[in-house]
Amino acid sequence: MSDTKLVELCDLPYPELERFIVEKLGMKRFRVGQIWQWIWVRNVSDFAAMTDLPQADRALLSERASIRWPSIADVRVSGDGTTKFLLELADGEHVETVLIPSDAPRRPHDAAARMTQCLSTQVGCAMACSFCSTGRLGFRRNMTMGEILGQVQVARAYLHDTQPERPIIRNLVYMGMGEPLLNLANVMDSLRTLQHPRGLAFSPRRITVSTCGIEKGMKEFGESGLAFLAVSLHAPNQRLRGQLMPRAAHWPLEELLAALESYPLKTRERITLEYLVIAGVNNQPEHVRELARICAHLKAKLNLIPYNPTPDTPYRAPTPEELLCFEKALWAKGITAIVRKSKGQDIEAACGQLCATHEAQAEQKGA
Ligand code: SAH
Repeated sequence: MSDTKLVELCDLPYPELERFIVEKLGMKRFRVGQIWQWIWVRNVSDFAAMTDLPQADRALLSERASIRWPSIADVRVSGDGTTKFLLELADGEHVETVLIPSDAPRRPHDAAARMTQCLSTQVGCAMACSFCSTGRLGFRRNMTMGEILGQVQVARAYLHDTQPERPIIRNLVYMGMGEPLLNLANVMDSLRTLQHPRGLAFSPRRITVSTCGIEKGMKEFGESGLAFLAVSLHAPNQRLRGQLMPRAAHWPLEELLAALESYPLKTRERITLEYLVIAGVNNQPEHVRELARICAHLKAKLNLIPYNPTPDTPYRAPTPEELLCFEKALWAKGITAIVRKSKGQDIEAACGQLCATHEAQAEQKGA
């Protein structure tokens, strides 16, 4: 055993991996691409199995580096096929990630079923939105790039091992636990790694990052063009937004909307505004009028998310009629509003239901 601390390779974006392999370990430059592919494409974490590297390089890597993915502490599968993983990170913290089967009907030539994966970016969350389970945990720490992408690698390995059909993870949404723009550097590194042509080669058009609106970060993220943007709006005026999401509302709605007006968009690209529908709270006729004013200035579409009940909140989910009525009223004002079907509710895997505590998991199981 060597005394030097092992370098965690899944935390290194390509240029840093290159520096480590070439400058620190003295290996040939073309080895970097091979190692990158073993890590990201082939999903192999045992250096001994990297058969196209010379024995000496494999031995050196084992001495100086490691590839550690999160471990699966629990898996729950919903009646609708949604799968929620409770993952344990190296320091014992827990996060959740969810695989959601795609809605699109399978065409005969589709090789495999398609999934969307919902990724967490922080352990806990500092934003404390009043309706969200993750907010209850408070903020514990940022996830590293390797931990963010470890969710993808663990899910890929799980699908590979358990599903004869080998479904493909086609879309990624950064909509799990945490606020991505408060962990911007690691989130951007994770996006660059996902999109690396010699790695998983994800297109930015298949990735969406959701934020409650963080002033510092929005501009940099927009200019990067690394993914689509979704914004958790949830209220059409500052007063109500302040009640529902007090910390996010520190950035006044007016200013958030102004930032969205000048947000760089590609041709035909639109910002997604997420709107949690809470019965009697934000689905009244005046809210429709306010939303119409907001949408008139933006290239945006509205995603309606029916509120998923979470413990100890005063809120009520809308009935299907209330939801339809709100949707129709928005359409009547010329707003493109789409109800996002909630999946995985029976296993607390839906929006706002991720909380990753052992106690919570134990309660769920006991229920
Ligand atoms: N912090 C980021 C990423 C989390 S995305 C953000 O706020 O966008 C998770 C989405 O689920 C957010 O739009 C969030 O507001 C929403 N959500 C939170 N609690 C919910 C609940 N109880 N029911 C439905 N959606 C909820």
